[in-house]
Amino acid sequence: MQVYNSSWWEQKYIFNSIDFLIVGSGFTGQYLAYLLREKHSSAKICMVDRAPFSAGASTRNAGFATFGNVTEIYDDLQNMPQEEVWQLVEDRYRGLEWIKQSFGPEVFDYQNTGGWEIFTETNHDISSLAKEYNQELKHRIGLKETFQIKDTHDLGFKANHLGVFNPFEGQLNPAKLFLHLHSLNQKRGVLFFGGMEIEKIEGGNLLSKQGFELKASQIILATNAFTSTLFPEYAHTIVPARGQVLVTKELEKPLIPGIYHSDLGYIYFRSLGNRLLIGGGRNKFKEEETTWEIKSNENTLNYLLEYTKSVICPTQNVEIECSWSGIMAMGSGKFPIVERINSNTLVCARMGGIGVALTPIAAQKAVSLL
Ligand SMILES: Cc1cc2nc3c(=O)[nH]c(=O)nc-3n(C[C@H](O)[C@H](O)[C@H](O)COP(=O)(O)OP(=O)(O)OC[C@H]3O[C@@H](n4cnc5c(N)ncnc54)[C@H](O)[C@@H]3O)c2cc1C
Repeated sequence: MQVYNSSWWEQKYIFNSIDFLIVGSGFTGQYLAYLLREKHSSAKICMVDRAPFSAGASTRNAGFATFGNVTEIYDDLQNMPQEEVWQLVEDRYRGLEWIKQSFGPEVFDYQNTGGWEIFTETNHDISSLAKEYNQELKHRIGLKETFQIKDTHDLGFKANHLGVFNPFEGQLNPAKLFLHLHSLNQKRGVLFFGGMEIEKIEGGNLLSKQGFELKASQIILATNAFTSTLFPEYAHTIVPARGQVLVTKELEKPLIPGIYHSDLGYIYFRSLGNRLLIGGGRNKFKEEETTWEIKSNENTLNYLLEYTKSVICPTQNVEIECSWSGIMAMGSGKFPIVERINSNTLVCARMGGIGVALTPIAAQKAVSLL
């Protein structure tokens, strides 16, 4: 790799006297830049990324605008305090509403298709859980009849005849959302340096792998799964989790437009025009998928393809058009970590598999701490 020594001009005018330096240009980084500019109209705000634009999860996800399904909430209630479970659902709902209201749903092709949870097997009394959770959601967010028990026959899947429909969810185009935020930030004077991998942070000084030295009053880590590569103390609380996704060629009988979950949300699929996008299966190959390496895993992809053929499209031919992976951040809890590391540095990371909804809320909290 070419290593540069900065010119006098660069040292003095570009990489110096930065008020806010955001490391990581995914959704978290973009919302941080947007919100910081709202609050500090003349501050020097810079965002850097190790990749030319962003290379983690934000432009590699499935584009589900979802705030929780019945078995996921049930599972969380077994493992987390009740108040936290509902706070998380509420944060996700409010995050999605904020994005729609701030930028306009048409900017990122938001479609209010509704979301389904389907079952190939379940021991849960889904109707009772749906009723109970609807009460809570009505009370907290004001939504009426969020989870509706419906016949799944018309969906054409090889699944139980009853599923849960949530009319308040939908799908979006994450690349369009990313591009909108990226260009908006640049128009508002946020400097972006792509291909700059930060290797070391000490006080307000940052050193990049490419040899550049930067100086900033405040540094905000929006590095999600990669945070512990810079601050190893996060190795146990922020753990990488690779997610695989595949898109089929156009189907003869396309899906009814919507987003679909199964297996506690470990399998998720959606319509993509006449194509099908499916992702997940990480729970079956947990060890292999606990990695920072953005690479396809044949085992997980075969599992997803098999699920597609046997459950989603049992009566038609399915061919893969493309596949990819992205890296999520999981760990010891489901809430993002938003905290100060020291007087110069703040972390805003661990967005799980639900960051499309959670990143604006986490960024709002981070900006309130600066
Ligand atoms: C396959 C998949 C499907 C998903 N589907 C959904 C979904 O449908 N709905 C939903 O809500 N969420 C989904 N998610 C989760 C969601 O995409 C993420 O939670 C969210 O994008 C996280 O955004 P972020 O900006 O925090 O992290 P990222 O997008 O990962 O951004 C972190 C950035 O930091 C940069 N970086 C890291 N280290 C350094 C360094 N040392 N120097 C410089 N730059 C650095 C990286 O290059 C990266 O661009 C999915 C994720 C995956 C992987």
